[in-house]
Amino acid sequence: MKASIISVGTELLMGEITNTNTVYLSQKLNDHGIDVLYHHTVGDNPRRLTRVLRESLQDCDLIITTGGLGPTQDDMTKEVVCEVLEDHLVMNEGWLDYLHERYEKRGRKMTDNNRKQALLPSRSILLFNEVGSAPGFVLRDTEEKKTICCLPGPPREMKWLYENKLSSLLAGQQAGVLCHRMLRTFGIGESSLETELLDLIDAQTDPTIATYAKEGECALRIASKRETAEEAEAAVEDMIRQVRERIGEFIYSCDDVELVQVVADLLIRRGRTVSAAESCTGGMFGAAMTDVPGISAVFDCSLVTYSNEAKMRELGVRAETLEQFGAVSEETAREMAEGVRRVSGSDIGVSVTGIAGPDGGTDEKPVGTVWYALAAEGTTVTRKTVWNTGNRRSNRNYAVLNMLDLIRRHLEG
Ligand code: ATP
Ligand code: MG
Repeated sequence: MKASIISVGTELLMGEITNTNTVYLSQKLNDHGIDVLYHHTVGDNPRRLTRVLRESLQDCDLIITTGGLGPTQDDMTKEVVCEVLEDHLVMNEGWLDYLHERYEKRGRKMTDNNRKQALLPSRSILLFNEVGSAPGFVLRDTEEKKTICCLPGPPREMKWLYENKLSSLLAGQQAGVLCHRMLRTFGIGESSLETELLDLIDAQTDPTIATYAKEGECALRIASKRETAEEAEAAVEDMIRQVRERIGEFIYSCDDVELVQVVADLLIRRGRTVSAAESCTGGMFGAAMTDVPGISAVFDCSLVTYSNEAKMRELGVRAETLEQFGAVSEETAREMAEGVRRVSGSDIGVSVTGIAGPDGGTDEKPVGTVWYALAAEGTTVTRKTVWNTGNRRSNRNYAVLNMLDLIRRHLEG
């Protein structure tokens, strides 16, 4: 099934409110295995809404609209949908009674324009809204091939109607069961990921593979729709196995878990402790770690050693090292990691030192140059990245992910 989501409301076009309805509905429809082909946003304008509806009907079987079901003049979704699907509005006495009751209970007087909310297309199925005064409805075309679902604009009402009324209707219309998994990777860019998996992606019909770039990370959504849940799960598992064969080392979760959580779980499971020495991240690594409940079992400290003096004083980095190689260097990163491991007594010491920008770069060490080290019993490994997003905060986030990735790779051998 192919779908289009149409948001109605001039305030959306003015940038006054964020269109959260579309995000919500898209995720839900995709989870149902319904392909969302379009997102449209239209102001409170009947002519333009008509045009967008007609266009969506050309290649979508299902259209969901949100907004414009209210009692006021500018609310005209119902009228337009009726015209497009050749129906007319009739008073729904049941809803009118319900509205009367609702107003009475609240001790408020129902105005004439409130009656408008009980007008519904004659052929429509009413979606009873228990949390608001505008009902939703589902209307099909005369040949019963196309479906338009209209939901009210307020997100609370829209979600309630989706979850309690629409979701089961849609599930009934869909053949098959959908199963999906979200794989998360770090250290491989979206384009390399796609290149590695190109034949799998090209050949896809079911399971489908979609890549999503996140900040410094890449996610892969693998989905399958089969007659039974078991078959769908087996198909997804098999695809995960094939993907793992190609890019296994970059995958840190098959269940959409954050990298920091994965690392925390590994540390706890293996009973290994960790401490960090941070320069350019200024404590962001420590903040990320301490966001995880239960981390105190394995996390000792993260020392923010920003100046050369602090690096020498707190970690025992040698003055000669700083002088000869600079603060952003493999040698300094190494002494920082070994130093924090020594002073904390942790099993693992991890360090970071880099140029977060926007200034401070040189030809030899451009902005975004970051050195990392991980010290553990009998071994110290280092890593260098040069990654400049043009944004200091993003650069520092990326550095934290690299520290976590170093730990993960160390623990997974
Ligand atoms: P009402 O009966 O409340 O008038 P309605 O169906 O006519 O409902 P709108 O008037 O279009 O809906 O929107 C009501 C409010 O809902 C908006 O002011 C806005 O706060 C919120 N809203 C509408 N559309 C969206 C959207 N796409 N995403 C997030 N919020 C929205
Ligand atoms: Mg309104």
